[in-house]
Amino acid sequence: KAKENGRNRFVFYEKKMNEEAVQKMTIKNYLVNALKNNEFVLHYQPQYSIEEENEITGFEALIRWNSPELGFVSPVEFISVAEENYMIIPIGIWVLKEACNFIKKYNAYMEKEHIISVNISILQLLQDDFVDMLGDVLEEVNLKPSLLEIEITETMLIKSFDTIVVKLEQIKEKGIHIALDDFGKGYSSLSYLRQLPITTLKIDKSFIDNIEIMDDVDNLTESIIYLAKKMGLNTVAEGVETEKQLEYLKRNQCHKIQGYLFSKPLKEEDVYKVSGKLK
Ligand code: C2E
Ligand code: MG
Ligand code: MG
Ligand code: MG
Repeated sequence: KAKENGRNRFVFYEKKMNEEAVQKMTIKNYLVNALKNNEFVLHYQPQYSIEEENEITGFEALIRWNSPELGFVSPVEFISVAEENYMIIPIGIWVLKEACNFIKKYNAYMEKEHIISVNISILQLLQDDFVDMLGDVLEEVNLKPSLLEIEITETMLIKSFDTIVVKLEQIKEKGIHIALDDFGKGYSSLSYLRQLPITTLKIDKSFIDNIEIMDDVDNLTESIIYLAKKMGLNTVAEGVETEKQLEYLKRNQCHKIQGYLFSKPLKEEDVYKVSGKLK
């Protein structure tokens, strides 16, 4: 009986593995032509300043793939596939250009200047010409470097840490902002953090979720904000969904917030509905 159970479990496991592999292969197949066929669009999620009475300071660009064959595929699924076969390189360049063009156009209507945050894969950052490419795009779009922020995650940082630090320094030197995304989710080590020439910490949603369910004393979000401040970094809270979270973040002087409480990621045409003062 026990043997039978074990076997069933194995069959189930194998089936699940196969399904995942097939799913990945399918994504990979259709991803190849997605860029050429214009199947990607960017959505923009506003970031709000806590100090300045919830004013929009900028947007995070988030890629959306509407595949004619597969329907909507989440970036959580396809970005990792795109990284496996390096399709993330051309996709990433497209995202950067599209996002910079968007904010240039948006700012032309606005009284205040807004910043665009763009997620960058570490694989992209590690390309030899990445820093030059950033400069070229800014020049082409005629966008001030200070209106661009790149977001990187710590997932793949450790592997080529020294190279990455050098590149980030060059990028920071240009005046581009650098955010560490999903902070606290991975293996953040304080010594690594100190060496990284970043300007912003984005506190992972899991910490923000904990504000809702934990006593303040047990919650580390406050300590992260404090630590960031000591290091001269700005803080952005990701995935803010409730008033209770907002109150906590205000009380502890987090700089900016992003989340469904204020706005979901928006289509470009909807961005003007939530925006601040027009010129
Ligand atoms: P991320 O950069 O950490 O982006 C935040 C994610 O949280 C987004 O998911 C956003 O839609 C979602 N989110 C924002 N506020 C809330 C909230 O209040 N509640 C909940 N439940 N979710 C919220 P999305 O758009 O599905 O993107 C997932 C991840 O895919 C991103 O995480 C990022 O790592 C990656 N990604 C998205 N666009 C790009 C891109 O253009 N390039 C690269 N390399 N990665 C991207
Ligand atoms: Mg991000
Ligand atoms: Mg994040
Ligand atoms: Mg993420």
